[in-house]
Amino acid sequence: MDIIGIDLGTTNSVATVYTNEGLKHISFDGDFLLPSVVNVSNNGVIVGIKAKNMAMIAEENTALSIKRMMGTKKQVVLNGEKFSPEEVSSFIIKKIKETAEKEMGITYNRCVVTVPAYFNENQRDATTQAVKLAGLEVLRVINEPTAAAISYGANRDEDMLYGVYDLGGGTFDISIIENSEGLIEVLSTTGDNHLGGDDFDKKLTNLIWEKSGFDIELSRKLEIKLHQLAEKTKIALSSEPSVHIDEKFFAKKDGEALHLEVEVSKEEFEALIESDIDRTIDLLLETLEDSNTDIDELEAIILTGGSSRIPSISHKILERTGKLAILIEDPDKSVSIGAILQGAMIEGIDTDSILVDITPYSLGISTLKGEYSMELSFSKIILKNTPVPTTKTSRYYAVTEYQKAFEIDVYQGEDEENLESNIKIGEMLLTIQNPVEDGAIDVDFKLNQDGMLSVVGREIHTNEIIEGTFKTKISKSTQHSKVKEMEILTEHDQTIIEKIDKVLENSTILDEDKEDLKALKDKFLSAVVDEKSSIEEEIIDSIFFLEDI
Ligand code: AMP
Repeated sequence: MDIIGIDLGTTNSVATVYTNEGLKHISFDGDFLLPSVVNVSNNGVIVGIKAKNMAMIAEENTALSIKRMMGTKKQVVLNGEKFSPEEVSSFIIKKIKETAEKEMGITYNRCVVTVPAYFNENQRDATTQAVKLAGLEVLRVINEPTAAAISYGANRDEDMLYGVYDLGGGTFDISIIENSEGLIEVLSTTGDNHLGGDDFDKKLTNLIWEKSGFDIELSRKLEIKLHQLAEKTKIALSSEPSVHIDEKFFAKKDGEALHLEVEVSKEEFEALIESDIDRTIDLLLETLEDSNTDIDELEAIILTGGSSRIPSISHKILERTGKLAILIEDPDKSVSIGAILQGAMIEGIDTDSILVDITPYSLGISTLKGEYSMELSFSKIILKNTPVPTTKTSRYYAVTEYQKAFEIDVYQGEDEENLESNIKIGEMLLTIQNPVEDGAIDVDFKLNQDGMLSVVGREIHTNEIIEGTFKTKISKSTQHSKVKEMEILTEHDQTIIEKIDKVLENSTILDEDKEDLKALKDKFLSAVVDEKSSIEEEIIDSIFFLEDI
């Protein structure tokens, strides 16, 4: 099928294609999320994480959140050239088309693209235009909540009425959906074009800046850096009670480094965004009225969009409406999944049998069979058939008092009784400096779509951690696409190298700083594609600091 399902988001875009083995999310630099960021330089156009990185050092040539300008006559100037929002969006779609074609080895001619339900005709036309400019035919434009509903409703036969609460990076959208005899209908919808995770980042940016106590001007560059830091902090606060920000070389004042050290608690963050969350629930109640639906008639409220991972949202919904909110398994992917399922339905494919990308095996660690046994068994952490990427945590307890070390042996397979019949894929040892009487560790497993498993073991009392990354079985097609990607990366790599060389020529920079940067350059040059983005982030951070700001 030559169709791509595209969720063209304000902050990130996601693309899904249909294959005979099921659905496949296209991978961009090792991630299924493609930052909707475009950078234009003399070397050409770059899109995604690399463009997002460039925003720190070439913000004037970088377009962020272009979706907010769709349907307007506004233009952006990038590298001295004027672009319409449609043109900028078309660069993002072109990147999706090209990456999908390289990864899947076929040509994609058509797409189903999603837009917020409240997008007006101008905004929809602009989106269609952007798709055409990218060389794709628009098979259908569908509403994001409808797409989320399709993905939620897939493989569910029962008729039901539910709300789709979609809080993304830039927009909020709430819809009442009826699923009746396989037909999915939007009964009512409303939203706010300017409410989303970006606004939470801004509020958190202000709080961090206030707390920093710095008495310097907040330049545009620093603002971007602070914004990225705020986003990371916000995401961490969805799973941690507090975050300690510790950036040794955050900025400069009179040639001296300024150390940013700030603590932000979950309560503080929740208080910051409380009025926004209340507003989303007001809109939910409003749209229920519009569809003449009583809250009690709703089977569920389904949460989708990256920002709906913030735990206080479901708590607030329960508190104010008495309804349980269900976070869609993959809130970032559901819209794009719905888009491709819609494409498949148009093509007459039976979507009930389509599967989402899943892990074909279980992953876990070895544990003792019992308190008094020396025999080992296999304790699964990520179960076979879980959609990927996925993150799961399990807790394990020490066998002896004041246990000094925890051996974490990682296995892949299905046999829980017989450890040896599973495949060992790695091991690591967590040693504890100050052992406690009843030690326990949390083991986090994070599996990405390429079969890379990141493991973190953390003693829950002492917070000592050990980390490791292990390779599970990788399919041939994935390896193939990696080789291809390596070949096409060189132009952007060259820009980074040129930038490093320019900084190295600067005589005012200390020799030891230059040595560090040179080491990073070597690491970057010898890295494989998947490692490059994170090294690039370090490089940009370092250049950002070394350049006069
Ligand atoms: P979307 O437009 O649906 O891709 O959502 C993107 C937004 O979700 C961005 O503002 C992200 O910072 C935000 N986001 C992603 N993951 C989380 C998380 N775990 N907690 C809070 N916000 C998140």
